[in-house]
Amino acid sequence: MSERSMSCKRESETIGAVRTANMTGELREHIAGCESCGEALALAAAFATGMADFETPDAGLMWHKMELRRKRERAEAAMRPAIVAERVAAVLMVVCAALAVPWLTEISAALSLTAVAGLTVLGLSAASIYWLASPKR
Ligand SMILES: [Zn+2]
Repeated sequence: MSERSMSCKRESETIGAVRTANMTGELREHIAGCESCGEALALAAAFATGMADFETPDAGLMWHKMELRRKRERAEAAMRPAIVAERVAAVLMVVCAALAVPWLTEISAALSLTAVAGLTVLGLSAASIYWLASPKR
């Protein structure tokens, strides 16, 4: 244990002297030579003058925020496999459509044109839904 982390037996006496404004000469001499009591004096003086007056957030509010964050992180973690599956399905759909268009062209040019138009509308709809649902928009 380092000397800095050790506390002095007279720290509470030092803090009490600051609170009561009753600092004896002997205690002043001790504080001058004791690092621990010097820090306690500085902190007690800061609290006494209001320098250390800061607002701490409400514990209930912090707990609620942490709960919301935990739920959001759980939901995001649960959605990751679904997002991967969605992207794989989209890629497979595009590949299948690309393979189906030549086959449809052999049957009928109008059928192929209709299929391309339908797939274009479907792709634009899916892209717009994906864009609207993205949280970083
Ligand atoms: Zn001391």
